[in-house]
Amino acid sequence: MLTAEYDRLKSDYREIFLKTAGEVRAEVESVRPEGFVGDIFKTYKVGSEGFKWQQAVLSMLDIRYCGYRKSGLRQIQAYRDECNCINCGVCCKFAVSEFSIDELRLKAENGDNYAYQFLSVFVPYDNMSEVEKIYPEYIQMLKDNGESGYYFYHCPKVTEDNLCSDYENRPQICKDFPDNPIAFLPKNCGFKDWKLKSESVSLKLNAEAEIINFYKVKIKELYE
Ligand code: SF4
Ligand code: SF4
Repeated sequence: MLTAEYDRLKSDYREIFLKTAGEVRAEVESVRPEGFVGDIFKTYKVGSEGFKWQQAVLSMLDIRYCGYRKSGLRQIQAYRDECNCINCGVCCKFAVSEFSIDELRLKAENGDNYAYQFLSVFVPYDNMSEVEKIYPEYIQMLKDNGESGYYFYHCPKVTEDNLCSDYENRPQICKDFPDNPIAFLPKNCGFKDWKLKSESVSLKLNAEAEIINFYKVKIKELYE
């Protein structure tokens, strides 16, 4: 089931990405100086028409991304406010990271606040059979896609009733969960509707960020 969701997500992203790339390209053209012929990814003399076009594009892209980000995040938050946690406890018992405990410790020592908070509550599982019991669909999805290199953690503070035994002191990452509509949520998570409604907004934001960053990096590289 999650494998199908994974495939659908990839296909949706491809579609949104291509549409967004077309929109951005049209906006790039819309600020092209009248009568100017040339490619956006070419080095021009500083102060020339081509150079001015590139500067206009960079500033236009910044404004475009800020606008999308602001309204997108507002929309995602509004959808989130409509949902509630139903205390299934899975997110406390099943945290996935691409980093091992030692790598997380190193990151935390180097000032990574997320890693620091993560380590303040989560500990690694001793064996995979325990992990598979908590969220079998997720493990199956990783297997189906041939994905490996993930580490699984759980929080010892979750009670038998799936409540947080240290609720008042839980770190911000717990308060914020779930914060990414593209991430897979446990089957019965109370935020499923939020994910459904927010997913396309989030994919659009990702596409905007990826494409705009591509333009910015490529143009800047021309003058290094
Ligand atoms: S601190 Fe509480 S909310 Fe956070 S993972 Fe542990 S049990 Fe869950
Ligand atoms: S997985 Fe969703 S519903 Fe379950 S405890 Fe976490 S936030 Fe709440």
